[in-house]
Amino acid sequence: MPAIPHLTLNNGVELSAIGFGVFQTPPDETRSAVDAALKAGYRHIDTAAAYGNEREVGEAIARSGVDRSAVFIETKIWISDYGYAETLHGFEKSAKKLGVDQIDLLILHQALPSEFGRTLAAYRALETLLADGKVRAIGVSNFMVEHLTALLEKATVVPAVNQIEVHPYFAQRDVQAFGVRHGILAQAWAPIGGITFYRDSGHRSTLEDPVIGEIATAHGKSPAQVMLRWHVQQGRSAIPKSTKPARIAENFDVFDFELTAEQLAAIDALDTGKRGGPEPEAIALETFGRPIPEA
Ligand code: NDP
Repeated sequence: MPAIPHLTLNNGVELSAIGFGVFQTPPDETRSAVDAALKAGYRHIDTAAAYGNEREVGEAIARSGVDRSAVFIETKIWISDYGYAETLHGFEKSAKKLGVDQIDLLILHQALPSEFGRTLAAYRALETLLADGKVRAIGVSNFMVEHLTALLEKATVVPAVNQIEVHPYFAQRDVQAFGVRHGILAQAWAPIGGITFYRDSGHRSTLEDPVIGEIATAHGKSPAQVMLRWHVQQGRSAIPKSTKPARIAENFDVFDFELTAEQLAAIDALDTGKRGGPEPEAIALETFGRPIPEA
């Protein structure tokens, strides 16, 4: 197998360029999905308190025979657990469900724009967890430029990662450029198109895009592999999700070909500016809040 490229976070911690996502993976399918991912070579799993499958992620890793220290575990604090004490407790819940003492990367799942003070208090808790060695790196998700700017005014630790929707139809270049300027790694969620979101809104799937299809044919690869390669060559972390072993393996088999500058530019040109996921500014406890169960 070709060497797997690594990315280095702003505090020196490393992770592999392609990780494995488990959003919308039902708990009873999560163990087999994570198991298939570890067998295919993935060493980074992205889950979240809100996904309801941290326990199964932890169990799959523990039973896999792969050393815990070789697997990079990332999870997210949900908005209902924002606030300093609440987020410290949120870490305890997640760590216990995952069955680990230390989490590799802990991030805030969303900004809470209408209650940004709570968001800042949650981030201060992440800084405490980092200082105490309970987590190896901290970051955020779905933070737009205005949220990052407000956070950096108060933070003592620059987030290592901002996990955001990035795929050929929605590139968020302003957020990515801000991250590059401040040393915040862009981590692409829905890296092959957030297909479910787009399907729901009647948008054509990136998997059926003719430009991506043509590039895929030229390399003897699939459209999903071309999109993942685009992320890798542009220096992003990407965390594709699948529950199907063949697709899980396919999505990790992207290290043996190279897109040309023209092909990268052709994919860049597909950006529609249309978001598939929820509008970050609209996230509020009233609409999205729900309790995260105790471990
Ligand atoms: P992805 O872009 O990874 O697409 C997943 C979808 O594509 C699933 O329907 C999957 O179906 C299908 N699929 C996977 N591989 C292939 C393939 N090779 N060919 C064809 N279809 C394929 O979207 P996600 O929304 O799942 O995002 C990935 C991860 O990002 C999540 O799992 C989660 O970890 C994270 N995320 C974070 C969010 C946040 O707010 N921070 C929001 C959304 C996601 P099937 O399983 O049937 O193969």
